[in-house]
Amino acid sequence: MDLNFTPEEQAFRAEIRAWVAAHLPADISHKVHNALRLNKDDLQRWAKILGAKGWHGWAWPKQFGGPGWNAIQRHLFEEECAMAGAPRIVPFGPVMVAPVIMAFGSREQQERHLPGIMSGEVWWSQGYSEPSSGSDLASVKTRAERQGDKFIVNGQKTWTTLGQYGDWIFCLVRTDSTGKPQTGISFLLIDMKSPGVTVRPIIMLDGEHEVNEVFFDNVEVPVENLVGEENKGWTYAKYLLAHERTNIADVNRAKRELERLKRIAKLEGLWEDTRFRDQIALLEVDIVALEMMVLRVLSAEKSGKQSLDVAGLLKIRGSEIQQRYTELLMQAGGPFSLPFIHEAMEAGWQGDHVGAAHCAPLASHYFNYRKTTIYGGSNEVQRNIVAQTVLG
Ligand SMILES: Cc1cc2nc3c(=O)[nH]c(=O)nc-3n(C[C@H](O)[C@H](O)[C@H](O)COP(=O)(O)OP(=O)(O)OC[C@H]3O[C@@H](n4cnc5c(N)ncnc54)[C@H](O)[C@@H]3O)c2cc1C
Repeated sequence: MDLNFTPEEQAFRAEIRAWVAAHLPADISHKVHNALRLNKDDLQRWAKILGAKGWHGWAWPKQFGGPGWNAIQRHLFEEECAMAGAPRIVPFGPVMVAPVIMAFGSREQQERHLPGIMSGEVWWSQGYSEPSSGSDLASVKTRAERQGDKFIVNGQKTWTTLGQYGDWIFCLVRTDSTGKPQTGISFLLIDMKSPGVTVRPIIMLDGEHEVNEVFFDNVEVPVENLVGEENKGWTYAKYLLAHERTNIADVNRAKRELERLKRIAKLEGLWEDTRFRDQIALLEVDIVALEMMVLRVLSAEKSGKQSLDVAGLLKIRGSEIQQRYTELLMQAGGPFSLPFIHEAMEAGWQGDHVGAAHCAPLASHYFNYRKTTIYGGSNEVQRNIVAQTVLG
């Protein structure tokens, strides 16, 4: 196993770095480097810039209009974007539903949906969870009843991230209740502008409108929006979840946030405290260990070896590290980070004391990141999966 990058890979990195430096808008990277509020325009502006280059679907094969990069190239692209302060690509379209449509969708679905995802024009949402179906996802109750050439959908999804912007939503729906729960689920693509779809906000601990409830009241969905076969949706759902969990680990963002932590600790003086520097060093070791795990997976993929099923492991470690750096950032900011000032998330907010502009957003960031050990499948449940599939 060779974890060093080849000269070709280093040249590829340099090319990506130069392109991102030339194309990433400075106002967006300022917000990202300071964990400020990103609005829909920020996210979609960057998505469209990438889309115009054919990189919004950076992990896609050439056959579907992607760059056809290998695992190492994809990793280098993600790292360069993260370190430059690019926003995290909203994953629901390019990372989650697109691979499912490529693998299991019809040619018509591929031709209809993939171009809008690649260009960044069409915003997708994920409709998996329901009020009583999260970890136990196979218990979904939202019903889709076949009536001629349509499904009639009734039910509710919840925790739908950024669903307020959604043009389309991919949903797990129940099409059969007779057998095992897993065997009666289908994977449906639903136009969120359809009559009978209602989106209601859920305000999170940090005061932000990030998630939603989505209600379906006799929503008519053409049968051609069914992906693959009826009642086979569970297979497609699991295929998608592996992509989601690897994506959540996000070691590159952790590396960028480590730099921010050091910057704030130096500005606020805690850098002088060796005990605190020990904490930063421990975090750095964990980040390097996570990165090594990611590189091992990539190296195995590159050499065609079967890699361990480590999506769950990456999700657990990545999310814990994300929470840890938000805790240390709060400590580095000290008392200035304590007041929870909603406006401090806006670019340009200065506050009325020295240090306020970089310390005040920390509380919001801290509160927001409590989510990371829950979403994408809670860490407790991931541990169960790792115990069964990796440890045996
Ligand atoms: C910010 C945020 C954004 C989200 N975005 C989306 C989205 O866009 N689309 C979407 O479909 N979903 C989304 N989710 C939902 C997310 O996937 C679920 O919250 C998650 O799967 C957990 O389900 P639950 O909330 O129903 O908790 P529950 O399943 O009710 O679990 C409650 C607690 O019990 C524990 N638990 C449950 N079962 C077990 C077990 N077998 N062994 C040990 N412990 C167990 C869990 O770990 C958890 O601590 C989001 C969630 C959050 C917080």
